[in-house]
Amino acid sequence: MNVFESVKENVTARQAAEMYGIRVNRNGMACCPFHDDKHPSMKVDKRFHCFGCQEDGDVIDFAAKLYGLDSLGAAVKLAADFGIDYDRKGRASPRPAKKKLSEELRFKQARLQCFRILSDYNHLLEKWKTEYAPKEPEEEWHPLFVEALQKQTYIEYLMDILLTGTAEEKAELIRGYGKEVMRIGERISGLAACRKTDRDERSGYARPDNDSR
Ligand SMILES: [Zn+2]
Repeated sequence: MNVFESVKENVTARQAAEMYGIRVNRNGMACCPFHDDKHPSMKVDKRFHCFGCQEDGDVIDFAAKLYGLDSLGAAVKLAADFGIDYDRKGRASPRPAKKKLSEELRFKQARLQCFRILSDYNHLLEKWKTEYAPKEPEEEWHPLFVEALQKQTYIEYLMDILLTGTAEEKAELIRGYGKEVMRIGERISGLAACRKTDRDERSGYARPDNDSR
């Protein structure tokens, strides 16, 4: 709990008023310290409300107004005066929650992007495995055919983790292989551009290595 929550949970406006020297009668009424009050016109309970000057609020508002502090200063003072423990890092608890959410979102996007790239790459490997397969036994293996043989199992393994792994395994993969996957992505984009040019060129010419023997 942050300091605001801890104080509000543990101290009422009435307790604070009494602690700070304001006499509260049996009916929970007190002379208002915020205006020139001759007869008790302020109700103090969990919160406070003055029927004379209309001041109103919770225990933190009360201490803030009484000592001219901001909310945080008032809450910290109340915590100190009443010996209340609180999570010092939790002062801005709504912010870390938001940050966590956006981290989760970023992580999810990274995971989806990785998977998309791996999946595209896997399709390419699949294609290269047949497209560049050697036609003759003694033919030198095309590098893309070799790459397909070498990489496919590994890529499928990575995809499998992204699909069925635990959250920790997925995070580990993105931390460890994220950059490598992004490089694969860049290469695929590059290849796609090259292949287009390649195809355009080929359409006008016979393949040079086809007319031998
Ligand atoms: Zn008042």
